[in-house]
Amino acid sequence: MMRICIDPGHGGADPGAVANGLREKDLTLDIALKLRDYLLTGWQCEVKLTREIDKYLSLSDRCRIANDCEADLFYSVHCNGHANTEKNGWESFVHSATSEQTKQYQKAIHGSVFNYLKGWGTLDRGMKSANFQVLRETEMSAILGEYLFISGDIDSQILKNPEALNIMAVSTATGIAKALDLEQEPKGKASGPFPDVPSDHWAAGAISYVSDPEQLIMAGFGDGTFRPDESVTRAQLAVVVERVMRGTISEAIKVLKTK
Ligand SMILES: [Zn+2]
Repeated sequence: MMRICIDPGHGGADPGAVANGLREKDLTLDIALKLRDYLLTGWQCEVKLTREIDKYLSLSDRCRIANDCEADLFYSVHCNGHANTEKNGWESFVHSATSEQTKQYQKAIHGSVFNYLKGWGTLDRGMKSANFQVLRETEMSAILGEYLFISGDIDSQILKNPEALNIMAVSTATGIAKALDLEQEPKGKASGPFPDVPSDHWAAGAISYVSDPEQLIMAGFGDGTFRPDESVTRAQLAVVVERVMRGTISEAIKVLKTK
């Protein structure tokens, strides 16, 4: 079975980038924990985290954990920071001397994440390569994702929205599953779309449709639940309606363009 080592960047005494009331170390842990849950509930795979709590780890520690567990993929989660508040966007890195296979993995994950994030007004800064220690000293395919700019005028607003963090985790899980060709978890399908939504729930069909990674009109929670009886705020409803309307309009434009 494929094993994925997820590395939430920074932690403990090292907060990473800090701006707009956000700390990189908190966001990376939040996204990484959600990512683990989505991977484990959706696909057949094993997941190891370099840290599950707010603690300091050196870059060598992170590489050692990944190498010791013999992961097939090392995936490091970071957020960007910059003095220029007009810098916004998503970017991903592989090592400068990486394999063709890792570049293919990067392509699948990078595209999946931006496909979900583009509706939020951020930018695609592209697929990049760098000589980062965690990419260089890990013995397996290694990718580092920079989940927007904490310092950015647009991105910081996105990063403050828990729904956006959910979407980052879902889209990354979907991308990793596609890259590694993971098999879907059969028990999740048979028993209903979510552990708390059995297949005989009166709204199981609708919940399954709106939470489908292809649609993602309404995501589940980071712990893998949907919480079907929880009430929706007016703000959340507005987001859902906007997503539906924008989806419809972009589909309509696509139809027009092909005519
Ligand atoms: Zn970082």
